[in-house]
Amino acid sequence: NLQDTVTLNNGVNMPWFGLGVYKAKEGSEVIDAVKAAIRAGYRSIDTAAVYGNEEGVGQAVREAIEENGLTREQLFVTSKVWNSEQGYETTLQAFENSLKKLDLDYIDLFLVHWPVKGKYKETWRALEKVYKEGKVRAIGVSNFQVHHLEDLLEDAEVVPTVNQVEFHPQLAQPEVLKYCQTKGIQLEAWAPLGQGRFVDHDIIKSIGEKYGKTPAQVLLRWDLQMGVVTIPKSVTESRIIENADIFDFELSGEDVQEIGALNQNKRFGSDPDNFNF
Ligand code: NAD
Repeated sequence: NLQDTVTLNNGVNMPWFGLGVYKAKEGSEVIDAVKAAIRAGYRSIDTAAVYGNEEGVGQAVREAIEENGLTREQLFVTSKVWNSEQGYETTLQAFENSLKKLDLDYIDLFLVHWPVKGKYKETWRALEKVYKEGKVRAIGVSNFQVHHLEDLLEDAEVVPTVNQVEFHPQLAQPEVLKYCQTKGIQLEAWAPLGQGRFVDHDIIKSIGEKYGKTPAQVLLRWDLQMGVVTIPKSVTESRIIENADIFDFELSGEDVQEIGALNQNKRFGSDPDNFNF
């Protein structure tokens, strides 16, 4: 069900499904979206310092705990250190800033947002420190290619729990997925709906018709059946509910393959080997 979790390599349980809040505006927009999601049964929220909405996410989480009779431990909050803050001391400071903005006692998962060349190892050392201090339950990376992970693991004391990457039928990431599986690193999908581009894709739509499901539901179900954690974004309550309604059907092996065959190794987002932000 919606609250099913995967056990990460450090023993922490992370929900397979969550809400992404990239581009959800700070204030009532993000607060209402997060609260609608938690009411609908979501237990995981994915934000980042650069999204500029950590205060709203934290407020919504605190209010939703009260209003739904939950405990903090039942929710899972992810944030990320932005590129401009990478390096050891600056990351320690960035972590404290995120914690303060969220106004929570701890963060569940903190990620290195992008593999900033020459810096991500020092950034990682800072995450290892806050992890060892118990301020964060798990640490991980985002947008890391296989070579970044290999390089990081040469010096890392703590193996990342998660690698959050762009993942959808057009970018099925076979190499990264396989590598992460061999290292016990959980893959997590960003842009699982192709940032909305696949919600009226003909093949996805016709597969959905067989199950009485929408294209968005097919795309998200496919992530789970690929063994990938997924965090679709919406600020519209009806879509928030729709996106989570994927636990009462299973795509056939044939359909999973047909969706996977759409892979073109083609990104919508930036190339982790060539980004300039
Ligand atoms: P997404 O694939 O989740 O698409 C979101 C868009 O799809 C929405 O804005 C909306 O327009 C549309 N949509 C959502 N549900 C729909 C539905 N049921 N029917 C029709 N349209 C629907 O894209 P995303 O927001 O970029 O990715 C999800 C989350 O991943 C983000 O919110 C963020 O938390 C995270 N993310 C991380 C990174 C990173 O570098 N680590 C980058 C981008 C996003």
